[in-house]
Amino acid sequence: MDDIPRGFVIREGAHRIHNPFTSDKLATLGRALDLSPGTSVLDLACGSGEMLCTWARDHGLTGTGVDLSSAFIGAARARAAELDVADRVTFIHRDAAGYVAGQPAGIASCLGATWIGGGVAGTVALLRRSLRPGGIMLIGEPYWRRDPPDQATVDGCAGIGMEGWLPLPELVESFGLLGCDVVEMVLADQDSWDRYAAAQWLSIRRWLDAHPQDELAAELRAELASSPARHVRYRREYLGWGVFALMNR
Ligand code: SAH
Repeated sequence: MDDIPRGFVIREGAHRIHNPFTSDKLATLGRALDLSPGTSVLDLACGSGEMLCTWARDHGLTGTGVDLSSAFIGAARARAAELDVADRVTFIHRDAAGYVAGQPAGIASCLGATWIGGGVAGTVALLRRSLRPGGIMLIGEPYWRRDPPDQATVDGCAGIGMEGWLPLPELVESFGLLGCDVVEMVLADQDSWDRYAAAQWLSIRRWLDAHPQDELAAELRAELASSPARHVRYRREYLGWGVFALMNR
């Protein structure tokens, strides 16, 4: 595969952040990490580069983002120019699976894409290969905020990456079993989930109005008809999402 499915770009083409964080939560995480200017960041599956671009602006970081979407990489480069940080951040269009930085980074992250390492453990192992001693890894991952009562709930939450999610306490404990200290975390909430999920509906609707004859139109029309109820019935209620900051023990 040399790019992501087109439906993804239709749904999330207007998103700057492709996860259940608002820009406020992303900024809270950046402040929480107490980063010194010049810290280098490697962000695998960086999406439209909002974390790298805003943290370069706000904290003087330098960074590299890697993503498989040519559309999102294009948006990331445009955002870097807009925020006047294009001299500090670089965006690479390629598969991030197996990507290791040439120079070890102070922060190595993967938010909302742990399938690139075959799950959380594999992604931590991948990020470690790019991390300088004493550096921080960031993992953005879903967890069960309430136990799913039935298979319909599990199915209704599916479709955002690899399943087999853990409840929050078990997810946090799992990082310890991987040899990491959890040193910070910022969690999404139900309202920030809506900014990720509900914002897709307007994007889909506008795209449908503009492309009624497209080969994806029927599929996306069906998605728009079912997504809002599915979101409020399942993901918004049962699925949490957070970013966990980890340091090797
Ligand atoms: N970290 C970003 C994007 C999360 S969405 C953010 O939080 O905003 C998941 C991202 O993974 C998308 O940008 C998608 O293009 C990217 N992606 C999916 N498979 C990938 C792969 N194999 N290598 C690199 N990026 C990938």
